Amino acid sequence: MKTFASFIFLLFALQGFLGIAASAQVNLGQTDRWMKGALAAMERSDYQTANSIFRSLIDSGLPLPEEMPYYFSETLFQLGQYDNSQNFVNKYLELTGFTGQNYEAARRLKEKLKAPLAQILACEQCDRRGYRYENCSTCQGKKQTEQSCSYCKGKGVVGCSRCGASGMVKKVNVFNIVDFFECERCAGKGRLACPNCSGTGKEVSACKSCEGSGKTASTALCTHEVHAHSEAGKK
Ligand SMILES: [Zn+2]
Ligand SMILES: [Zn+2]
Ligand SMILES: [Zn+2]
Ligand SMILES: [Zn+2]
Repeated sequence: MKTFASFIFLLFALQGFLGIAASAQVNLGQTDRWMKGALAAMERSDYQTANSIFRSLIDSGLPLPEEMPYYFSETLFQLGQYDNSQNFVNKYLELTGFTGQNYEAARRLKEKLKAPLAQILACEQCDRRGYRYENCSTCQGKKQTEQSCSYCKGKGVVGCSRCGASGMVKKVNVFNIVDFFECERCAGKGRLACPNCSGTGKEVSACKSCEGSGKTASTALCTHEVHAHSEAGKK
């Protein structure tokens, strides 16, 4: 979740950073070193290293080189993070247009992304970023959580309002004499089954952790193998 949020932030931040890249001369040496290191890692197909160098560059808050989003999206593609890859390659194309040094390569990457993104969309075992779903740990996949009833505080009964929980009602007859009768509503018990939980003392509501879906995305990338997960779950 945290990673996803920081990516969203980053996408917004990119626009600003690239805008000031030309005027900012501070620490360009460090940026150059990072870029060289990352590109060298990509050269030897070490996309994991290249990706973490790019992340250091992003985290540093230094202005990002114009071509960086393209290279970053390429490493994301190689690491199977297709949704993020698409976000960055789109951002790159949006910011540099066809003047970018990697315009053609970025267009090719977009083409390459189509198939894996379609697979993710068609797969029901992963979220739209391609991360495999697992049962929600809060509700164990039941989609609902049970807690004690908020209305009766879990007691299952509430005081009868007609008789003030006494079980008896007062009536003044024609001779102005006060008579007591057993309360009809609660049959003289003074209490009634809680209307909120029907006397169970329990309240069921949609699980807040998974928003009632019963599943949450894990940190494992999905292989989109239809029965892999359900077979493993059978006992
Ligand atoms: Zn849940
Ligand atoms: Zn009553
Ligand atoms: Zn209740
Ligand atoms: Zn999948």
